[in-house]
Amino acid sequence: MIAPAILYALVAAVANVVGGLLITSASPRGIRVQRMLLGFGAGFMLAAAFASMLPHAIEIDPDAGMVALFGYLLVHVTQHILTPHFHFGEETHHEAMVARWVGTAALLGLLLHTFFDGVAIASAFDVNASLGLVVFLAVLVHKVPEGVTIASIMLVSGNSKRRALQGVVLLGATTVGGVLLTSWIQPLAQHGLALSAGVTTYVAASNLVPEVQKQKDFTSGAGVIAGVLVYLLARLVLGGLDV
Ligand SMILES: [Zn+2]
Ligand SMILES: [Zn+2]
Repeated sequence: MIAPAILYALVAAVANVVGGLLITSASPRGIRVQRMLLGFGAGFMLAAAFASMLPHAIEIDPDAGMVALFGYLLVHVTQHILTPHFHFGEETHHEAMVARWVGTAALLGLLLHTFFDGVAIASAFDVNASLGLVVFLAVLVHKVPEGVTIASIMLVSGNSKRRALQGVVLLGATTVGGVLLTSWIQPLAQHGLALSAGVTTYVAASNLVPEVQKQKDFTSGAGVIAGVLVYLLARLVLGGLDV
């Protein structure tokens, strides 16, 4: 099932670039929409990770629990321990952006995660098309905020608009790369779904939810619940138990 996975990964990659363009063209309305997407994306991703990805991973992978834990920690290390400053959403901490390499480090940290966005899509399509679609949606809902995140951190740390846009194109490209490598690298094919369940849990619960908590308004908080409800709706539309 590599062909549809590649197409969906390309759509997701375009959403990364859209997020980057929102920042480099400084559209205030776009930024508002992307803030709402943080909560919504968190809810949809949490639901997809717990209710779709993990159960399917456990069915096909005897080590699913440990592998998911490893996936979670992998993102923690690359986005927190090895990266001096990273969080989702628009970058506003000018004081933390003393050097251009801070932006580059954040980009490198996020590249592992965007690679796993592709691994997630490919390994979900390997199980069945409905799971593939749900996981694609879980990736798509956070791709615009992802582009916003990297473009703004690169700009605030003193990189040019051109570099910022190169950054978001690279994010999209690694997602497509994740799809391709999933069929070529045996451990990825075997543990891909469990790994990406851990990665998705990190992105939802440890990248997006903390941003929602910072915003302290009803809409962002309610967005999480809306994301879960839309996931449940998607399950219904896609035929219930198979998802
Ligand atoms: Zn910051
Ligand atoms: Zn992502």
